[in-house]
Amino acid sequence: MPASTILSDEKNLIGFDRAMLQDLITDLGEQKFRANQLFQWLYHHGAQDFDAMHNLAKSLRVKLHDAGYYIIRPEIVNHQKSVDGTQKWLLRLSDGNEIETVYIPEKTRGTLCISSQIGCTLNCSFCHTGTQRLVRNLTAGEIVGQVMKVRDELGEWPSPHEQRKISNIVLMGMGEPLYNYDNVARAVKLICDDEGICLSRRRVTLSTSGVVPLIEKVGDELGCVLAISLHAVRDDLRDMLVPINKKWNIDALMQACRTYPGLKNSKRITFEYVMLKDINDSEADARALVQLIAGIPAKINLIPFNPWPGNNYQTSSDEQIKKFAKIVLKAGYASPVRTPRGADIMSACGQLKSSSLHANLQSA
Ligand code: SAH
Ligand code: SF4
Repeated sequence: MPASTILSDEKNLIGFDRAMLQDLITDLGEQKFRANQLFQWLYHHGAQDFDAMHNLAKSLRVKLHDAGYYIIRPEIVNHQKSVDGTQKWLLRLSDGNEIETVYIPEKTRGTLCISSQIGCTLNCSFCHTGTQRLVRNLTAGEIVGQVMKVRDELGEWPSPHEQRKISNIVLMGMGEPLYNYDNVARAVKLICDDEGICLSRRRVTLSTSGVVPLIEKVGDELGCVLAISLHAVRDDLRDMLVPINKKWNIDALMQACRTYPGLKNSKRITFEYVMLKDINDSEADARALVQLIAGIPAKINLIPFNPWPGNNYQTSSDEQIKKFAKIVLKAGYASPVRTPRGADIMSACGQLKSSSLHANLQSA
């Protein structure tokens, strides 16, 4: 099993859940209900310092401060806006490492794509992030901190009930979320908490390349939407495109999908399928795909390959993507083609990469 431990930026309250805040408050000799107030200030109001927390006694605010606690989000190093309205932030973490976060506004929703690791250990051959070695897992605070920082930037506090600028969150940025399960789980629970950021679990999508043993837990514990980076329908090809397939093959992956807790039409699995010219985009592939997922409530997200420097794959032609989509649709599966967003600022799927180096390399 992959190693996954809670990393703690110990004194930064961003990332603290209710239980942690309760422990902290009782340690300070205060009554438990104060923890709830603190929780709401942090995650519903987006308070950036203790002074803003009017209904907390001054003495408690002073205690928090004197005990060394603070509230910080990742810091913006660079902000880019695409011609299509997509925005990308390069964020610096407290240890100097950097990550990328992308906001994609559409007519009916606004999606924030967040990262779960700095780099990635899995070398999917078509993914830019995969060329960056894993530096480390993000803490829960750094994961939820991306959401909070962008909401600061968009002016979206306190958490609105409707017409949200960030209405959906996808864990599709840098990293494999299920190789950092504990921190991702705590962050998702914070994002979905009714008294905090309060996003519906149906609006949070976790994308995995196929860490099979943890898929059931995602459904049971988090209840969010599951997206599977499938990309190939034969093991020999998937071994090459998504090498984690050598560990957990297509059969094992499909079995985990079929038994995903809570799976029904209203909560379909999204299968992501990158369209690579002459590699996985034939009509025979499309037919094999619908056979493979037969019986699973699902939609297939076709992602035209987003090129990046130094990679030799080509994007399938529009015509081929249409042919492929038609077969999938005819079999009864929605097959939206994911329009690349923000390609001019390298923020489309699989293009994210920060310049943070592996700790060993940095110190070399
Ligand atoms: N690590 C997770 C989530 C991040 S990647 C995962 O692999 O699922 C989000 C999606 O973008 C994945 O489906 C991934 O396979 C896809 N992707 C990666 N590189 C891409 C590229 N160059 N073009 C199009 N999609 C890409
Ligand atoms: Fe990692 Fe996902 Fe990229 Fe694969 S596609 S290298 S799992 S970020």
